[in-house]
Amino acid sequence: MYIIMLGAPGTGKGTIGNEICEKYNLTHLATGDIFRDEIKRETPLGKKANEYISKGELVPDEVTIAMVEGKLNEMKDVLLDGFPRTIAQAEALKEYLNKNNKNITAVINLNVPDEDIIKRTSSRVICSNKECGASYNTIFMPPKVEGICDKCGSPLIKRKDDNPETIKERLNVYYKNTQPLIDYYEKEGLLESIDINIYLENTKEVTTEKAIKIIDGRLN
Ligand code: ADP
Ligand code: ZN
Repeated sequence: MYIIMLGAPGTGKGTIGNEICEKYNLTHLATGDIFRDEIKRETPLGKKANEYISKGELVPDEVTIAMVEGKLNEMKDVLLDGFPRTIAQAEALKEYLNKNNKNITAVINLNVPDEDIIKRTSSRVICSNKECGASYNTIFMPPKVEGICDKCGSPLIKRKDDNPETIKERLNVYYKNTQPLIDYYEKEGLLESIDINIYLENTKEVTTEKAIKIIDGRLN
């Protein structure tokens, strides 16, 4: 089973993706998390990726596609979070899945208004433990203990690219490169959109419930 999480930066792809992975026992493949880990370990891939990520730009397609295909080879049921982000990546994924006799169950598109994205992303903190990958928000979704991950107890950190200037650039990049994927997957009959109200107290639960209903509907 393959699920794709689509949506602008800071719409909750990772948070909702985590819940979906737990429910259906999927491997969470988050390209941003992988790049951040490579950057931290100062690998050649990390150094290359950092040139783009620090500016809010996309890592080049050929680098990203090769990296993702390498990972997919070792995985069975997968939730893709942050990939594909361009039409070229979507085409490469399609070819890969065809070759391996696999298909996409659903593309879950998360909709959040831009002004809410900027608000939410500026106050985001993430778990420093890469095996965990949990994400919190000091205003909207605080951890039980300040600065500490509820799930694994590791310290929470701020992402370098979660500052207002870089977020604006990431939104521009999203509209230019990634938004066309909404039409692309609509035409494939795979698109399922969820509108999110970030001011609800139980936004995460409500959104997760909707996503699960969608996936269950497509599995039957
Ligand atoms: P968000 O969705 O909040 O922007 P991610 O962690 O998914 O965060 O991505 C962070 C950054 O990593 C992106 O701004 C981009 O530079 C890079 N990146 C992640 N996934 C891809 C991808 N599929 N193609 C190109 N660049 C990517
Ligand atoms: Zn954690």
